[in-house]
Amino acid sequence: MTGSYDVVIVGGGHNGLVCAAYLGRAKRRVLVVEAAAGLGGCAVSAEFAPGFTVSAGAHILHLLHPKVARDLDLAGHGLRYANADMPTVALDPGGKHLVLPGALTADGSLAAHSASDAANLAALRRRLMRFAGLVREFQGTVPPRLGGGGWKDRLKLGKMAWRVRRLGRDDMREFLRIVLINIADVLDDELESDLLKGAIGLDAVLGTGLGPRSPNSVFSLLYRLAGEANGTPGALALPEGGMGAVTGAMAKAAEAAGAALRTDAAVTRIVVEDDRAAGVELASGEVVRAGAVVSNADPKTTFLTLLGAEHLDTGFVRRIANIRARGRAAKLHLALDARPEFTGLEAAHLGGRLVIAPSLDYVERAFNPSKYGEYSPAPAIEITIPSITDRTLAPEGKHVLSAVVQYAPYALKGGWDAARDDFADTVVETIARYAPGLERLVVARELLTPVDIERRFGVSGGHWHHGELAPDQLLMMRPVPGAGRYDTPLPGLYLCGAGSHPGGGVMGAAGMNAARRLIECEARR
Ligand SMILES: Cc1cc2nc3c(=O)[nH]c(=O)nc-3n(C[C@H](O)[C@H](O)[C@H](O)COP(=O)(O)OP(=O)(O)OC[C@H]3O[C@@H](n4cnc5c(N)ncnc54)[C@H](O)[C@@H]3O)c2cc1C
Repeated sequence: MTGSYDVVIVGGGHNGLVCAAYLGRAKRRVLVVEAAAGLGGCAVSAEFAPGFTVSAGAHILHLLHPKVARDLDLAGHGLRYANADMPTVALDPGGKHLVLPGALTADGSLAAHSASDAANLAALRRRLMRFAGLVREFQGTVPPRLGGGGWKDRLKLGKMAWRVRRLGRDDMREFLRIVLINIADVLDDELESDLLKGAIGLDAVLGTGLGPRSPNSVFSLLYRLAGEANGTPGALALPEGGMGAVTGAMAKAAEAAGAALRTDAAVTRIVVEDDRAAGVELASGEVVRAGAVVSNADPKTTFLTLLGAEHLDTGFVRRIANIRARGRAAKLHLALDARPEFTGLEAAHLGGRLVIAPSLDYVERAFNPSKYGEYSPAPAIEITIPSITDRTLAPEGKHVLSAVVQYAPYALKGGWDAARDDFADTVVETIARYAPGLERLVVARELLTPVDIERRFGVSGGHWHHGELAPDQLLMMRPVPGAGRYDTPLPGLYLCGAGSHPGGGVMGAAGMNAARRLIECEARR
């Protein structure tokens, strides 16, 4: 038995760290216990070959909630950008690449693909960024109760409706028309360039189990556009030193607020006494007592593994078991002997985000096999070469390439052990079509399938949002009704991870909102 804390947090992913920092600032005695040898969860930097470091999970910072960055003074705790506003380059198989310097904006290269799209894209951008602003407003708040709440909940619901109404009649109608439909229909209505539509379509499905023709893919695009980097809405950034620099700054902020952080401390059980969470038991057998337990682990792990169904009613257990949380994104890391060359790509753009999604059909065809437990023979890919702008990541003259690859289903027919190498070859060959000779530069490689992501980061299903961002798993229904406001059916147990509102991505909003909710609930005891 070890000393008692006000709050013990299971997991030192970025949301656990943010939650710890806010609770520490509110004068709670907090302990974070993390199973892995290091902090950060899916937002870490790791050396995958001697001298080559990469952001091992998340690789682009574009969702960090500005209030979290400000309140925790992440810049003061050492967060720097190697690239604060990366362009996106939609790679064209013929070398006529399209450069998008900001979110949904293109430079003169668009004219080579469509004369009319420049004007049409500007109009689409104005509307989508406005709608994304609405999504952003909801991300930083605890969702209201749907029924049985008090005046505060009714006020919050009223505010939500008012914010939609405030869009004005035309935009409100358009928002309600498109928010739950598929991105391919919207893009086909508005634009003609296949390359442009493919790149935007990929953004709408990255990290999800959707294809561009799946319902709800407009919402997932808005979720992405709701983010910002370094104060610029929709911008994409690379932290200096990789994503571990972000969680490193968060850990420093938590410690500065008085939180204690322990690694190599896997929780095996949430301790329940008198029908209330009373602490955690670690793999070593040590019991840490606390007035409340906050879980940064995903909802299935939290309720089914660490708490146990015997403490919950059967309807709740069924809802948790049915959360859709099977990842379809893989991650490939390449250690390169020299800088790769992409046909037709100016060197100045190599430090941007390069996407292989030449049309909506290409992305949809990449998606199709994953529905049947097969990986894409021609995957859609988001590539960064962070060592172009951050020389801390690779030896002099050498480079690292980091790629998110869609689609690699968690439950691959025949299992990943037999297919991992073949899929890695497929991905390298696909990139090499745009960067001839790439294969010869590869000195080491690492492929993380959703099964590897599950093992390495402790996320069941290997899903980067800890659960799909679908209408039945959003807001006060995330992860499930009954646990949609961070408190759970077990008094004293709270959630703070990507599985709760607003979802995944390196944002910190779930951790911030959970701390607020815990303080509110515990004040009522
Ligand atoms: C391959 C990949 C690429 C991604 N790319 C991006 C991107 O480019 N940009 C972006 O914004 N987002 C990206 N994401 C999503 C983002 O990384 C996650 O949504 C986010 O990091 C989740 O943070 P979290 O703190 O909620 O949970 P996690 O990061 O999953 O942290 C949970 C922590 O809990 C710990 N834990 C679990 N069980 C226990 C236990 N029993 N005892 C103790 N500790 C435990 C885990 O070890 C882990 O550290 C990506 C994710 C993946 C996997």
